[in-house]
Amino acid sequence: MKTQQFVVIGLGRFGSSLALQLVDMGCEVLGIDRNEDVVDSMSELLTHTVVADATDEDSLRSLGIRNFDCGIVAIGADIQVSILAAILLKELGVSKVVAKAISVLHGRALEKLGVDRVIYPERDMGIRVAHQLVTPNLLDYLELSKEYSIVELNVPACLHGKTLSELNARTRFGCSIVALHTANGILIAPTAMDRLKADDIMVIIGSNDNIGRFEDEVV
Ligand code: ATP
Ligand code: ATP
Ligand code: CA
Repeated sequence: MKTQQFVVIGLGRFGSSLALQLVDMGCEVLGIDRNEDVVDSMSELLTHTVVADATDEDSLRSLGIRNFDCGIVAIGADIQVSILAAILLKELGVSKVVAKAISVLHGRALEKLGVDRVIYPERDMGIRVAHQLVTPNLLDYLELSKEYSIVELNVPACLHGKTLSELNARTRFGCSIVALHTANGILIAPTAMDRLKADDIMVIIGSNDNIGRFEDEVV
């Protein structure tokens, strides 16, 4: 597969973390910021870095921005800059544009401009941390729709050594265990006789209500 190329505009806390993670995952990343100190501090860590103003069309054009697979506008605080940068990325022909929003209205404006994906890092992290605080064994979750989710849970002590048939989650709670992360790797679609061990992680799919019952009664 061809190496994916990303351009990250704004190397603040969110943008720099995103850019570093993409590099870690083997992607090529061009980081842009108007602040020279910020760019200096990232120049050794990203594939390319440039001091430029995200609202300067000529600069972006001369950087060949349109050849990138994905552009991320990681500037939130200054809504005007965020919107102008998003428009420029779309107009220059970047195939996928992602932008960070700091409010719902900001997000709606970005969507109207044709931004492919709007993210709300602070809001989403707040929701995520709340879920994890309420359910201590919850490692992660993914909302499939308003009604259905996939969650990752530690195996609680009361289930160590139990088979899925003994847990009987499908019958008791209407939840299916779709995978188990075990010391020996991931086990997809475990069956009735598979056993839960202390350090395994269960990946469970179900309605939010049913997952809630599972968490309340078992975890
Ligand atoms: P975070 O919360 O991720 O730190 P933020 O949403 O609070 O970021 P800022 O801190 O205002 O946003 O900006 C993020 C980065 O974007 C900063 O490093 C800033 O220098 C850069 N930036 C702001 N405006 C521009 C611009 N017009 N062109 C290029 N970079 C810019
Ligand atoms: P089902 O028709 O619900 O799959 P079954 O009657 O065919 O179950 P088994 O597949 O032997 O019987 O499983 C027995 C019980 O073990 C199931 O009713 C279910 O509660 C539980 N079980 C088995 N595999 C899973 C799984 N992957 N996730 C959740 N529960 C499971
Ligand atoms: Ca911020």
